[in-house]
Amino acid sequence: MNFYGDNADLRWYVERGVDWDPLVRLTEYEMKAPDAPGSVEEAVAGYRDILGLVGGFVGDEVAPRWKELLHAHPRLVDGAVVEAPVVREIVEQLGGLGLFGLNVPRELGGLNTPMLVFQLTQELIARADTSVCAHVGFHGGIAMAALLYSVLEGTTTFTADPPRIVATRFRELIDEIVAGRAWGSMDITEPGAGSDMAALTTRGEQLPDGTWVVTGQKIFITSGHGRWHFVVARTEDPPAGKPPGLGGLSLFLVPAWEWAADGEKVWRAAFTGVEEKLGHTASATVTINFDRSPALLVGARGRGFQQMLVLMNNARIGVGFESLGVAEAAWRAAKAYAATRPSMGKTIDRHEMIAEIIENMQTDIQGVRALGVSACWHEEVAQKVELVSQFLPLSPERKAELLAQQARSRRRSRALTPLLKWLASERCVEIARQAIQVHGGSGYIVETGVERLLRDAMVFPIYEGTSQIQALMVMKDTLLGVVKQPRMFARDLLVARWTSLTGPPLEARVAGLRLQALRAVRFLLMRLTGSKLRDLPLTSPGAWKAAFANWDPKRDFALAMLHAERLISLLADAAVAEALLDQVQRDPARAEVLVRWLERAEPRARWKLDEIVSTGTRLLTALDPALDTALDTALDTAPAVVAEPVHVAAVAAK
Ligand SMILES: Cc1cc2nc3c(=O)[nH]c(=O)nc-3n(C[C@H](O)[C@H](O)[C@H](O)COP(=O)(O)OP(=O)(O)OC[C@H]3O[C@@H](n4cnc5c(N)ncnc54)[C@H](O)[C@@H]3O)c2cc1C
Repeated sequence: MNFYGDNADLRWYVERGVDWDPLVRLTEYEMKAPDAPGSVEEAVAGYRDILGLVGGFVGDEVAPRWKELLHAHPRLVDGAVVEAPVVREIVEQLGGLGLFGLNVPRELGGLNTPMLVFQLTQELIARADTSVCAHVGFHGGIAMAALLYSVLEGTTTFTADPPRIVATRFRELIDEIVAGRAWGSMDITEPGAGSDMAALTTRGEQLPDGTWVVTGQKIFITSGHGRWHFVVARTEDPPAGKPPGLGGLSLFLVPAWEWAADGEKVWRAAFTGVEEKLGHTASATVTINFDRSPALLVGARGRGFQQMLVLMNNARIGVGFESLGVAEAAWRAAKAYAATRPSMGKTIDRHEMIAEIIENMQTDIQGVRALGVSACWHEEVAQKVELVSQFLPLSPERKAELLAQQARSRRRSRALTPLLKWLASERCVEIARQAIQVHGGSGYIVETGVERLLRDAMVFPIYEGTSQIQALMVMKDTLLGVVKQPRMFARDLLVARWTSLTGPPLEARVAGLRLQALRAVRFLLMRLTGSKLRDLPLTSPGAWKAAFANWDPKRDFALAMLHAERLISLLADAAVAEALLDQVQRDPARAEVLVRWLERAEPRARWKLDEIVSTGTRLLTALDPALDTALDTALDTAPAVVAEPVHVAAVAAK
């Protein structure tokens, strides 16, 4: 079975859905890279071959071994983490297909494919097994992060003719990973600090000779039994009397061991635990202790949080594709079972409720994939323009064009990535649960192979930033965006409203979804600020900024924090609909997917908006009785802000 060949939706992206031209041009240094394919089409043909190869391998060789993988727990033996032979064997075979260096530039030993191709392979692998997917991902993903960090800090050198990287700071790491001798990990979480990164206590200390050491304990580290660790540690103390913040963190690369001249390992850190888990049973989740471990400072001191976001953004997109793989496996299992299971005179897929569940699973998967491809495309463009614009001799016009695209893509990626992480992971859990339901009692039995999908899915809304953290980030970005550019918000509201009333049918419905999300934003802002904001002119950013001065976000944002997951749901529904609408413009046959999405999303959006408008006061006043008055005052504004006030239209018409 070929997991690429049998997936028409995935193949549609490769054949028609992805705008490959900019990705290929950037990846191939404006098509001037040595050994660059002769054309964009030739490059895409190569990507198609890779996906077919990986799809065939995971379908035939990995998926059938799920039972072996289920019992392939890694173990801690004399301070070393020992993987089960089946894991090592499969991961090495995938490495043999070139996956460890899939998107590493050719001059560094890789295959130089776009990151999007890497993410699509991750989906294919996750459909077969998530533990294998995670471990393979921490090879090439870490190599690319190391290269990007080096480019960002200015320690990569490049020649322009022919264009190629000649030196990069973390070359040893990249070489080892591409050769399959090493992998890396992202070490953030500590016993006292998960979502709250400001509470991290691992320390980075600079020695008199200028070098650094790191001391502390990191827990729950996926594939944390490798040599290379990107570690976030505190290097600056907060000013006296202030709580520690994110500003005092720095990023380090710490090898868990060095190789002595005689080939012996010299340990620089200690593996002290391997977790037993609900799912991902073959993946090593490791506790690692650093004790004055020699470390390399990556990028600027005190910028660790921002640096980590670079890696985390890619990882969040990765969770999107990983979730897609598991959801695809669940949907296919449910569909196949329902087509053969008889009940009351027909197979269960002919019973209305089961038919609807199976269709909704497919619609959700297609919607998430649309969002995933879009988020990944923009993130990749934003990152690659960095390299190309720094190093290639470009005409001023081309450079300006690329930088403008980079700015657009940065904004889109920042907006879409948390939506993807939230939507993909939450839907994957639901789809996996529904797959069990469709299987009835058999679904609950391990032997059937479906319950493991739910156990694997359960961590997706937790790692790489929980669902609640994604929702908070989106809520803050969205509300502060309005505060910074109230006029833009007014225009967006008007355009959405106008299009929803006058646009062609599909555009109108998509705009209607966006309008619901914008109404929720407006409602929250008005409720947060009460009468303070009601009379503010939308044309005056200064007045808005003043209204938000001296705010205590923890208290004043309470209502928005309460409703953040509802808001992210509204925004994700709208973003998926917009991505699918773009696809319809490329290929009218995609209208069928969009219609299915809208059919579910429209009532969901009405419900979420209703919840935002009508609930919350009781709980919030129970949490903080002092909030009572502010909320009551603001409540008066509710009906007015859900319908657009007249002056919005007046402003936007100017
Ligand atoms: C299998 C697995 C693999 C992992 N891999 C890695 C890895 O490779 N590297 C790494 O560094 N970490 C890893 N982690 C750790 C993971 O990233 C953390 O578990 C996660 O960030 C949550 O942190 P926490 O467990 O401390 O939960 P907490 O932060 O204590 O959160 C508990 C609950 O409270 C909620 N919450 C917290 N703060 C708020 C808030 N302000 N508002 C609303 N709700 C809030 C959370 O959403 C969550 O529901 C892994 C974890 C697991 C289980």
